[in-house]
Amino acid sequence: MQCCDLRLELTKVMRILYERKYISSLSGNASVREPGSSEFWITPSGVFKGALKPSDIIKMSVDGRVLEGRLKPSSEWRFHAAIYRKRKDVNAVIHAHNPITVALTMAGVAIDPVTAEGILFLRKVKVIPYAPPGSEELAKKVAEGIGDCNALILEKHGVVAVGRNLTEAEAIIETLEDEALVHFIIHVFHALHS
Ligand SMILES: [Zn+2]
Repeated sequence: MQCCDLRLELTKVMRILYERKYISSLSGNASVREPGSSEFWITPSGVFKGALKPSDIIKMSVDGRVLEGRLKPSSEWRFHAAIYRKRKDVNAVIHAHNPITVALTMAGVAIDPVTAEGILFLRKVKVIPYAPPGSEELAKKVAEGIGDCNALILEKHGVVAVGRNLTEAEAIIETLEDEALVHFIIHVFHALHS
């Protein structure tokens, strides 16, 4: 796949995440790379996320250097780079702010997959203790957590999903929020009937 296709794919996935309310105007980010590459494309910081253009996308190296692009990379570039350094099988990373997932986790509910799709796509969901957004500390915790799973919940913040491509990572974001909604309804149902 050519680099411009990857950039276009990134803009499309961000628009879908924005329309589905998993990210807001200025929050959320995503990146993608050619399989095995030491460079990746990432969404910019401070730009409306619902209507990005391929020319807004920035190219970075996995050691954190900006290689191409006129805008600033997402403030979360550190954990994107750290994931690519750690996981050779990962070619796409998405960070969103799934509201139900974040709220349920703050309420102390563990989102262990129970639906057929959740078990298949998510397998394991890990919660990462709070660290400030954009920090080296968060990047370190995310890289540690992502070692053996594809879906992380960032306490009081959002979620991180990884995949072999953007479609896989997006499926994890969506499946995680669906799973959270199922958990919420089960909890309400039990509370009403206990
Ligand atoms: Zn965030």
